[in-house]
Amino acid sequence: MAQTSSLKSEPLVAGGESAEAKAVAGVIAAGRASAARHWVPATSGNFSVRINARTIAITRSGVDKGNLLASDILIQPLGEKLLPGSSAEAELHTALYSERPELGAIFHVHSPAATVLSRLALAEGSLRLTGWELQKALVGVRTHEATVDVPVFANDQDISALSGRVLARLAQPAGDAIAAPGYLLAGHGVYAWGATESDAARHLEALETLFAFELSYRRFTP
Ligand SMILES: [Zn+2]
Repeated sequence: MAQTSSLKSEPLVAGGESAEAKAVAGVIAAGRASAARHWVPATSGNFSVRINARTIAITRSGVDKGNLLASDILIQPLGEKLLPGSSAEAELHTALYSERPELGAIFHVHSPAATVLSRLALAEGSLRLTGWELQKALVGVRTHEATVDVPVFANDQDISALSGRVLARLAQPAGDAIAAPGYLLAGHGVYAWGATESDAARHLEALETLFAFELSYRRFTP
């Protein structure tokens, strides 16, 4: 079957919109929401939404995520060379989509609580969240009594090497904890994902809020 990147020839989804146009709109909405919360300062962060099994829509490098235009979104085939203008971190998206067919959206921000708390948690290699009602916003978590494991990685400018470490760690079971739908990069920020754009957005907001809770709690506990 012929593959095309043309908006006009994409199959229509419910509501008469093409899957590609819907994904591009999802990326733009996620960027705007994160910018409104001051999670993507100075053009940082990147956002992607899956179009189909082989293709994603993803933000290009160096653009203000609060004012994204459709022309700021790249239509990136999975398993192929990154397109010109791609973000340095695009491989962290493409590799994860290739590994996990169930993922529909991946959002990455340099939000304050994630960026600070990740440095405090780096030595342990993971952040364990428990006792918070809000953790029930994360997929698979039914009680505040559960323990949620958020992997923490050292930051690295070698994105291919970092991506390899992330995939290897995510393939491991979280032991007696529930694996969070995301991970932290120390001193850098958070990646969060979901089966749909709204799941990824809820996970991102819940995680950043839980990180802020945890950061505040740690100020009062030894
Ligand atoms: Zn980043």
